[in-house]
Amino acid sequence: MPMGSSDRISVGVLLERASGERRVALIPADVKKLMSKATFVIESGAGLEAGFDDKAYVDAGARIANLREVLASSDVVIKVRPPGIDEMPLASSILVSLGGHDSGLRESLRKRSVIHFALERVPRTTRAQAMDVLSSQASIAGYASVLEGARSLGILLPMLTTAAGTIKPARMIALGAGVAGLQAIATARRLGAVVHGFDVRADAREQVESLGAKFVALDGNIGAGEGAGGYAREQSTDQQARLRRALSTHLATMQLVITTAQIPGHRAPLLIDRETLALMKPGSVIVDLAAETGGNCEVTRSNETITVNGVHVMAPTNLASLVASDASRFFSGNIRSLLTYLLEESGGLHFDPSDPIIGALLAGQSTTSSSAAA
Ligand code: NAD
Repeated sequence: MPMGSSDRISVGVLLERASGERRVALIPADVKKLMSKATFVIESGAGLEAGFDDKAYVDAGARIANLREVLASSDVVIKVRPPGIDEMPLASSILVSLGGHDSGLRESLRKRSVIHFALERVPRTTRAQAMDVLSSQASIAGYASVLEGARSLGILLPMLTTAAGTIKPARMIALGAGVAGLQAIATARRLGAVVHGFDVRADAREQVESLGAKFVALDGNIGAGEGAGGYAREQSTDQQARLRRALSTHLATMQLVITTAQIPGHRAPLLIDRETLALMKPGSVIVDLAAETGGNCEVTRSNETITVNGVHVMAPTNLASLVASDASRFFSGNIRSLLTYLLEESGGLHFDPSDPIIGALLAGQSTTSSSAAA
């Protein structure tokens, strides 16, 4: 393990270099809260795009350094996005970042003897909830999806009366009422739209209605898809086709559609096909938040807007970065919870593979490296 400047664990935070990525993984306020447990070295400019300058990190007790120095002195390297080839941590370090689904990254880190705590692997349990970046960032994406969708709509979301007349409120629906969908529903309600929600999980109905939105209930068990652990289960091809047809009559009446439906470990369900697009009003907007797992709409293409029969299908994959400051605050809060769990009072690292959270983070990796030390 690289040697930090003291006998405490040294935590390094890198600048994000991926195009469009403006978040930072750890903010100064959280560095300050963790100072008694570790030392911190921050790459110069890492927080700037999110509104946190180098001075704020120094005031919190951290040291500022360049990329090479951060990598050379960090036992634990923290990032939002997976590291590029020039940002790889040194052998025996621990990397904490997204990238858990990237098999190329996994192999590259294995060859370098770097342990990867991939943030996608944080278990979705009550105990680990405070460390769950997928949930915190999904919530922000749900909010931002409504703003992005509304910007592309040629109509207003709220009812508006002027001397020129009255405009009816827009009709919006969220397909998938989990973390992102519920936040999209709450945001569209605040903006004055007439809001609907749909999910295959029965529990979601009450949550949608508690936000003042109308739950779209389908006939029979077409819409049923309760899975294990509070998640949806994958439906058969036939069930999915029946669901698409049942939803299409509702979608034909909507102007803004936010789709968030996902099944952990599987391709996202296809909820909107070309047949449905043909029924929708020209000028309507679909924001597909499931693009990274295949998309909920047949024409979805990541980070592009595809227009079919006048219906615009957007598929932004980094909406949280648009609100980089607050997205970083949440991301950093999750990282602080994770570090609080991992860092021991003695200055070492809690590294027990039989622990349910650490075991999940280590899944499939050899732990013979000295990274368990310190
Ligand atoms: P997700 O991102 O896997 O899926 C989003 C939503 O899509 C889910 O609500 C799912 O039911 C829905 N969906 C799947 N297939 C669908 C289909 N064919 N049609 C319509 N909707 C479909 O899930 P999520 O948003 O991360 O969370 C799902 C549930 O788990 C929520 O109740 C959430 O509160 C809970 N959760 C718990 C924890 C925790 O305890 N740590 C963490 C995250 C989420």
